Amino acid sequence: MINLVKKSRAKIVLVISGFAMLTSILVIIGWLFDIKSVLNVVAGGATMKFNTALCFFFSALGIALSFGKKATLKYASIILGFLVLIIGSFSLAEYLFHFQSLLDNFFVTDLLSSAYPGRMSAGTAFCFAMLGLSLIAIHTEQLVVLKTVQHVLTLVVIIAFVSLITFILEIPTVNKVFFINTMALHTSLLFMLLAISLSLKNIHLGFTALIFEDYDGSRLIRKLIPFIVSLSIGLTYILLTVVNNQTINYDFGLVISTVAFVLISIIYISIIGINLNKKDIRWRELQKSLRDTNQELEYYKQALDKSSIVAFTDAKGIITDVNQKFCDISKYDKTEIIGKTHKLINSDFHDRAFFKNLWETIKKGEVWMGDVKNKAKDGSYYWVHTSIVPFKNDTGEIYRYLAIRQDVTKRKEAEEMLASQYVKKLEQKNAELEQFAYIASHDLQEPLRSVTNFVNILVEDYHDKFDEDGAKYLRIISDATERMRNLIKFLLDYSRLGRERKLSLVDCSKILQEAIADLNESINIAEADIEIGNLPTLYVFETEMRQLFQNLISNAIKFQRKDCKPQIKISAQKLNDTWMFSVQDNGIGIAPTHFNRIFQIFQRLHTSREYQGYGIGLPNCKKIVELHGGEIWVESEVDKGSTFNFTIPKLEL
Ligand code: ADP
Repeated sequence: MINLVKKSRAKIVLVISGFAMLTSILVIIGWLFDIKSVLNVVAGGATMKFNTALCFFFSALGIALSFGKKATLKYASIILGFLVLIIGSFSLAEYLFHFQSLLDNFFVTDLLSSAYPGRMSAGTAFCFAMLGLSLIAIHTEQLVVLKTVQHVLTLVVIIAFVSLITFILEIPTVNKVFFINTMALHTSLLFMLLAISLSLKNIHLGFTALIFEDYDGSRLIRKLIPFIVSLSIGLTYILLTVVNNQTINYDFGLVISTVAFVLISIIYISIIGINLNKKDIRWRELQKSLRDTNQELEYYKQALDKSSIVAFTDAKGIITDVNQKFCDISKYDKTEIIGKTHKLINSDFHDRAFFKNLWETIKKGEVWMGDVKNKAKDGSYYWVHTSIVPFKNDTGEIYRYLAIRQDVTKRKEAEEMLASQYVKKLEQKNAELEQFAYIASHDLQEPLRSVTNFVNILVEDYHDKFDEDGAKYLRIISDATERMRNLIKFLLDYSRLGRERKLSLVDCSKILQEAIADLNESINIAEADIEIGNLPTLYVFETEMRQLFQNLISNAIKFQRKDCKPQIKISAQKLNDTWMFSVQDNGIGIAPTHFNRIFQIFQRLHTSREYQGYGIGLPNCKKIVELHGGEIWVESEVDKGSTFNFTIPKLEL
């Protein structure tokens, strides 16, 4: 109900104003055409004067306009307010200074009233002056004025209400107080309605606020006022009726009426009291459970404070609060931390992508967790396992982040130490292996050379001494030694790879062109078509890089399907801080089960008769890519071609 009033105030006001205007027009017509019944409503009661009806018309129109949004409507309402104020206060002045002016019978001549014909009652005049004043003042923005207007309107309602009671209780006119002695019934009613309507404009101020608020006090007022008013009027009405009828005498009636008033009030107030008590009990229960929850939260907070490094930031990441542990580990004072961002303790250990991912996660409202290396005020580093929890408000907006951290420096240092020891051991083992392969292949060359030499002597000087079988075995030995020499040479080359490496800034297009030039002959024979995209300039090991391209292109030419010519595409694309190169062909392709095997040394998928080779090309490529800190892999389908991809990190020297 209350909400309905709040929402549809403008409509309510329009209906009331319309009613008031209609009533006033009826009264004006009554005066003009002498229809008495509309002038006083109650036979013998006071009449609504012509000026009163006119003022009501102005007031009702002014009130309706005051709810409009346009400035012109506002000014029109102020002008109407002025008219009402002038007529009201002039009539009042007539009473106060005992004079009769033209105003009273200016429009029509009142032949009905004996005292002050044509003049509105003093109460009516006063109410109009107040209503007119309120209509003018209600358009201000000043709170004090607006509040005063609400009080003035309440006063008008009270005066009209008192007058209304006198009618209800049928107090003879002579016994009425001077001030309201001749206010007509519909006059009082209209005053009440119009004053209430205007006060709805500022529903949150003054007495209207007290009635319409959503608090217990306002609810109580809404229940008690109608009850007290109707009960007291009702009882007094009954009392006067029975006393006038001489059914009982006045004293007895008064006693009965008082007792009834007290009893009914006690019952009604008790019912309200019981309901209020129930509400209070529920409220206290809620308060207690809230206190308990708060207490529990307090324990959690204490536990968190003792065990973790805690920081609160606002939605932009500006630190709003930290606990003592945060200050202890970062070695900053609280005053140095508040108002700053976490950049204060940034160690520059993590790259931009790390923090980008962190922010993306928490901005989505999800919890981010991870290990972060921070820098304390004294320059020392510490590791924290961090959980960042976003806090959301009712509308789902993030308004705060809570970062809970655990000091994991010791664990991280241990991990780092283990890792470095492991890496050292691995490097040592690798070096030993490379050394072994180098020495083995180097030293094996010598006896092999002797075998080759003597086989050559046998072939050249003793070939006529061998029969057919002997000559065949000699050829097999010669081929095998040749093959072994090649294998040992490749092994030596492989172990030498990157031994004397030197990084230099190289235009990859240039070394690719050189690699293609070296392969010129086989490219021409195979009629290969090579398409080259834009390649970057990078810090690389130039010779090794050239060899890498050479190996991949020569494989792309070599492993070609019989029915078509090689089409090779070489391209590169940037992925964050690395470059990904691709060498794509339309050859025989590779089954996924062999994707790893082909990068192992001396592993081949074909016999030398099908496709010549030793199974050293791709292991070489892998080693070269890994020397640069990159990765190599293949994407392929049998008969659909292969794409060899490798990454080379963008090094800054
Ligand atoms: P090789 O070329 O000497 O055989 P690699 O190490 O270069 O040795 O290659 C190993 C194996 O990988 C090859 O025997 C071949 O089966 C397969 N391979 C390499 N490149 C391609 C390619 N472009 N298309 C199809 N298969 C390939």
